[in-house]
Amino acid sequence: MPRHLVCLTFDFDAMSGLVARGMKSPTPVSRGEFGAMTVVERLLPLLERYRLPASFFVPGTVIETYRDHCARIHAAGHEIGNHGYTHVPPANLTPQEEEDGLVRASDLIEEVTGSRPRGYRSPSWDLSDVTVDLLLKHGFDYESSLMGHDHMPYFARRGDVVPDDGPVTFGETTSLVEMPISWSLDDFPHFEFMRTATSLMPGLSNARLVLENFVADFEFMTRNTDWGVLTYTFHPYVVGRGHRMLMLEKLIHALQERGAVFSTMRDVAVEFRGRT
Ligand SMILES: [Zn+2]
Repeated sequence: MPRHLVCLTFDFDAMSGLVARGMKSPTPVSRGEFGAMTVVERLLPLLERYRLPASFFVPGTVIETYRDHCARIHAAGHEIGNHGYTHVPPANLTPQEEEDGLVRASDLIEEVTGSRPRGYRSPSWDLSDVTVDLLLKHGFDYESSLMGHDHMPYFARRGDVVPDDGPVTFGETTSLVEMPISWSLDDFPHFEFMRTATSLMPGLSNARLVLENFVADFEFMTRNTDWGVLTYTFHPYVVGRGHRMLMLEKLIHALQERGAVFSTMRDVAVEFRGRT
């Protein structure tokens, strides 16, 4: 019996990702604030209407800013995963800063949910050389920032050696489940216009065309494997805009019509472990 899983994941960053880029004036703060509104007024009601479980990844600073929002996410039965304390990616932190932030964020999640998070997703998807070790040390079950497959979890490695001028030597495979992701299944690069001093991300794609891509990746999975999981990543301040909310609802319909089983990442990681 084929089983094609879908994880709807929401990185509830509010303003933290903009703050990490040095954008702290009133307009970027309001841009993040918009996301907090959409969690409560749009996303939680949509998920409830379709009775879908989801996984939210929330940085510690956002939990402290929006404790009630996080309590409502938890009360609605969704998973809350660790997304660091600030939104600075681990690759840009010292090992000590990274570990301190990881633990601090888990403490905050435990305050809200009553238990330690099982999963971690790095801000901006860029792990450091020590992230996998830290996650194992602190008892995490899964990680979700790598791109080594599109619809099959695997076990994360540590200790790869990557010289500038020679072949890569792969390190040891660990017991940490990797729930892989992709920028192509993330709302952010498709939709979010972002201008910084050194870069321009155009975003603002036509939602109908993005929907077509999102559904096609699910169809590809169903043709290629009897068991797999496709992970979609959304940001409340991105997907919460009107035309994108309509797209998200159409995506849910399209996936349901094609037999998708919706699950949290926490539960899929356990299921994957049971199959190995
Ligand atoms: Zn994020």
